[in-house]
Amino acid sequence: MAVDLASGPRWGRPSACCARLRHETAQAPAQTRRARSRRRPPPTSQRPRCSSSITSARRGVDGPTRDDAHRHTRRVRAGRRERRVDDGTRTRQFLRRPGRTRILLRYRKRDHSAAARWPFPPSPVRRCDMTQGPARVTSTVRTESPDSGQSWIAEGAWPVASGVHRIPLPLPNDGLRAVNVYAIETGGGLVLVDGGWALPNVPELLDRSLRTIGSGLGDVTTFLVTHAHRDHYTLARVLGDRLGAQVVLGAGERPALDVLRRPDWTYDPLVDLLRHAGAHELAERVLAVPFDPPNPVFWAAPDRWLDSETSLELGERRVDAIPTPGHTPGHFVFVETAQRLLFAGDHVLPTITPSIGFAAPRPVGALADYLRSLTKILQLPDLHVLPAHGPTGTWSHARARQLLEHHDVRLEATLDTIRDCWRGVVDVASRMAWTRRELALDQLDVFNQAVAVLETEVHLELLAADGRAHGADGGRGREYRATRAG
Ligand SMILES: [Zn+2]
Ligand SMILES: [Zn+2]
Repeated sequence: MAVDLASGPRWGRPSACCARLRHETAQAPAQTRRARSRRRPPPTSQRPRCSSSITSARRGVDGPTRDDAHRHTRRVRAGRRERRVDDGTRTRQFLRRPGRTRILLRYRKRDHSAAARWPFPPSPVRRCDMTQGPARVTSTVRTESPDSGQSWIAEGAWPVASGVHRIPLPLPNDGLRAVNVYAIETGGGLVLVDGGWALPNVPELLDRSLRTIGSGLGDVTTFLVTHAHRDHYTLARVLGDRLGAQVVLGAGERPALDVLRRPDWTYDPLVDLLRHAGAHELAERVLAVPFDPPNPVFWAAPDRWLDSETSLELGERRVDAIPTPGHTPGHFVFVETAQRLLFAGDHVLPTITPSIGFAAPRPVGALADYLRSLTKILQLPDLHVLPAHGPTGTWSHARARQLLEHHDVRLEATLDTIRDCWRGVVDVASRMAWTRRELALDQLDVFNQAVAVLETEVHLELLAADGRAHGADGGRGREYRATRAG
């Protein structure tokens, strides 16, 4: 989900049990089998029921009533007290949960001026296909990138290392604003990491940016694509055909491409995912939004599949392709060890967390995969992160630890909601805080509600897999309860 971590590791240090979770996550498949055989949930008729009312579920002395839930959106998590201080440029928020450490959160004020939105229009609420990836409204558009000295979305080919240039391409009507394509000079042409979204005028913009470094589209020999989301794959596929360049993609993306090339686009995979999560009303609302089926030309197969970790010779350079499933099942990152560069795709982003669980066909164990893939980043040398969205200037170890901590905290918060009774995925999602503004679920737009529900489902799924929660089929979807009461 679109949880913006722009203010850094604001959740403090993980608890001991959170640290243990990382270890357990690495063994999730074996533990899943053991946990299932060891702890069978009671039959549905014997489960204690919880009220569906948000109010009744909140614990603590100052939990809001349902009526003032909107006015007190930052109190959506149970039992905590807060104090907000607003100095005009920055909001500081003090949280206190009974018996727990005080946490200080800082929020930068958002700039809603026209200049802040330039050069792309604000994002309308629209229905989104499964190709869109982690679409969220971010407030990082104005973040300066050290390679350009200006907003990270500014047009150009910005040098990030010897013979490596960052080229932002626009994502109009998308909260992510832009995607970074990286051009690597090889001595025998250019290799591009990711290709951008196949939109009119974007090939011309890419060519214009390449000309500022004395090259052009005709010099591109290869596209290394990190994953099969539209902002990464579609223009690579289109230009690969037009230029005769090779397109390379992880083999784990094959099922997603098969879905996107279905000849009869009579169903919507997002709706299927939501129904699986028990979000039937939300699925109906998604169905009501107009939707264009995917163009199969954009989703033709690559010229080469990457099956496993592979060393690629790019002229005089060597780049290692490393599988990092999680955001999507076939996500790869690319590492140039000689210059300590991590072409990170959407795996490690500097200011937001990538969506997990938003993929078709529905992935199983996506969050466990993602956490393992973050741990893999810690086992590599500390690298300069070259992200697909956002500025450069981040180091891989620090950011991977922040992301692991973030999910530790989300797992703990998710577990808190199911301490005393069984709850469905939507019920749990409605008790969580979303985005760095800590919004309630129903304050998000329809699409981001869908992403939030699916992200909640993968957290519950992981809690059940590592034995911290039971999972069982309820009447309208799967329900969960913590194995130990709070
Ligand atoms: Zn993506
Ligand atoms: Zn992306």
